[in-house]
Amino acid sequence: MDAPFWNKPVETLSRADLAAHQLAHLRSTIVQALKTPFYRERLPKTGIGDPGAIASPGDLRRIPFTTKDDLRRAYPNGLLAVDPEAVVRIHTSSGTTGTPTVIHHTAADIDCWADLAIRSIVATGVTRRDVFQNMMTYGLFTGGLGLHYAAERFGMMVIPAGSGNTKRQIKLMKDFGTTVVHSVPSYLLHFNTVLEQEGVRRADLRLSKAFLGAEPHSENTRRKIEELLHIDGYNSYGLSEMNGPGVAFECVHKTGMHVWEDAYLVEVIDPETLEPVIDGEEGELVFTTLRRQATPLLRYRTRDLARFIPEPCACGRTHRRLDRIKGRTDDMLIINGVNVYPSQIETILMRTAGIGANYLIVLEKQDSLDKVIVKTEVTAERFAGEFHALEELKCSLRSQIKTEILINPAIELHEPGTLPVSEGKAKRVVDQRPEF
Ligand SMILES: [Zn+2]
Repeated sequence: MDAPFWNKPVETLSRADLAAHQLAHLRSTIVQALKTPFYRERLPKTGIGDPGAIASPGDLRRIPFTTKDDLRRAYPNGLLAVDPEAVVRIHTSSGTTGTPTVIHHTAADIDCWADLAIRSIVATGVTRRDVFQNMMTYGLFTGGLGLHYAAERFGMMVIPAGSGNTKRQIKLMKDFGTTVVHSVPSYLLHFNTVLEQEGVRRADLRLSKAFLGAEPHSENTRRKIEELLHIDGYNSYGLSEMNGPGVAFECVHKTGMHVWEDAYLVEVIDPETLEPVIDGEEGELVFTTLRRQATPLLRYRTRDLARFIPEPCACGRTHRRLDRIKGRTDDMLIINGVNVYPSQIETILMRTAGIGANYLIVLEKQDSLDKVIVKTEVTAERFAGEFHALEELKCSLRSQIKTEILINPAIELHEPGTLPVSEGKAKRVVDQRPEF
């Protein structure tokens, strides 16, 4: 399998050269950070008053963490390191709850982001002949513009479709010969249901690849998307605090996402003790920007859980691979005292034949005990089939989920297309338990 490169010298830097690069850029990032009101107040207190305080990579751990709450408190300009006139764009968090967060970008920041994102998409084997339909939300959310710029600068034809409006998506796809899409995985599953309802034949489409990002999903979900749509799905990881899409991306081998370590210094920590985990173990990802001018961030706690894959990749890139994002520390549910991630239930649903595109986990309190109700759509074929086959499916799901999460769930099977669909990130958990 040939592995294409966008910037081969950088993508294949030796680990020693990468480490030297990281140390030099960590120091320049400290210089930059000290220009912001937030870090100018915080860093000297911890002995990081100048870049000379960082003599070796181990000194990184002397720098305090930065959290989402810090970003909220610094809103709007507390983390700005450049003259406001040098800023060419901002992105903010959705801010559905409380104060939003903002990341400012200079022209050089946008160039750097585009470069990282082009590296990412080129690693999947796309060429300038590809037609790219971006099914992510445009606007303040980085998912839309991030890969849009990369694909356009690289030279692909870009269709800025945005999210939702599935029938129009299908028309664009047919009329302009879309070969690559960028989408949240849950939307692609829904998209396939509509394709079937509309009677679109696979031969009417030229689709061959999907970039899957913006929500944690299981390997079984990826496989399901690949099988249903007859395409290759590549996992993408990005967060607005670290620009957006293009932080880490899978290459043609589809075995974990190369994180661009010349631009980001990544640590994996135990979220309880805050100590680094052993290489290859799972923990919370902590990122430091190494090349950003306008909004430098030091040791930013992402709340995302993942692990590094220690072995080198067959493609020759030296930048390490992150395994899929398992979930967020915030997503963890405590059900009757047991820690459960929604992804554990999703994994079971997506590997089970006859299960449809959409599901919902509902938590209720019954006689002081937590009750889990898993509502899932089944395929049209299965729904129209025999009653006892549906009962068997229910039993099988109940026992598989019980084995995985140690809680006996109630299973509800629904007709395809009847559970609510969201156009952005899917809402998978409804917690109706009373708060204490
Ligand atoms: Zn690779």
